Amino acid sequence: MCKVLLHMTLQLLGKTSADKLYLQIQKEVKELSYSPCLAVILVGEDPASQVYVGKKIKKCAELGFQSRKILLPEDTSEAALLKQIQSLNEDSEVDGILVQLPLPKHIHEATIIECIDAKKDVDVLTSRLAGKLMHNEHQIAPCTPSGIIRMLEDHDIQMEGKDAVVLGRSKIVGLPMSLLLQQAGATVTLCHSKTKDIRSHTKRADIVIVAVGKPEFLGKEDFHKNSVVIDVGIHRREDGSLCGDVRQEEIRDYVAAYSPVPKGVGPMTIAMLMWNNLQLSKLRRIK
Ligand code: NAP
Repeated sequence: MCKVLLHMTLQLLGKTSADKLYLQIQKEVKELSYSPCLAVILVGEDPASQVYVGKKIKKCAELGFQSRKILLPEDTSEAALLKQIQSLNEDSEVDGILVQLPLPKHIHEATIIECIDAKKDVDVLTSRLAGKLMHNEHQIAPCTPSGIIRMLEDHDIQMEGKDAVVLGRSKIVGLPMSLLLQQAGATVTLCHSKTKDIRSHTKRADIVIVAVGKPEFLGKEDFHKNSVVIDVGIHRREDGSLCGDVRQEEIRDYVAAYSPVPKGVGPMTIAMLMWNNLQLSKLRRIK
């Protein structure tokens, strides 16, 4: 008898992993004698950033966290922003401080980030916490890459011994992603805008994390049937719909597993932000 083997592509739904993490956070928050507090600062009126900040504040309320939403005008000076961060550093009620990026061009991002008290650095961007991450001595890790690791674990996708390719080397996604994958036992290649022949890397990898910030940059020909593809990119098309850095319709029935856009990486980023804020609050308040 002839057996027909069907190729099934697994959808990696960040929402499922995020919901699981929220249950754990809610359980832990109930056992605390305080409400963890997250402060989010937004400078300017970028519509996408406004949406992201709104979602974070809403999630704080749902989880029983306190929150501070600090909206500053586009022409805020660097000195005024530093003063605002300093006051949050000194505020004993605030556990985590998130400065929504990107900042307006006249503000030096690294100066602002370094001003955040490392004990309140919820996205692990200060050099102190980034150093701990590099030495594998971290208690929390940047939200998007650590969310991806959890999502892979939740779907029983093995990283140890696998070849992983990360596209993009930003401080917030690509670079920490490469460290976390390496710490999980993968052999990691980090590609960027100067990499020759990206396809030669992605095509042979077991796991590909795409974070280039270019709509539908990669497609079916960049992967193979057993590829696990994580699409970090998020872009709004002219018709209002969302797309990622990968041409999802080409891979959705082809690769072994992929994260959709939306409902893939995005929900995990917010969940890890809440998780990190809870961890920072415990480290600072529970002796
Ligand atoms: P970013 O700071 O703009 O970094 C993009 C990276 O991609 C850079 O390292 C750049 O290389 C590389 N790159 C650009 N063009 C390339 C090319 N043609 N070939 C190979 N590499 C190229 O972006 P990011 O902050 O990491 O974000 C990446 C994407 O993820 C964006 O779409 C962003 O909106 C999305 N994102 C989503 C979430 C989420 O929760 N879903 C969270 C964060 C970010 P160089 O370093 O050489 O310039």
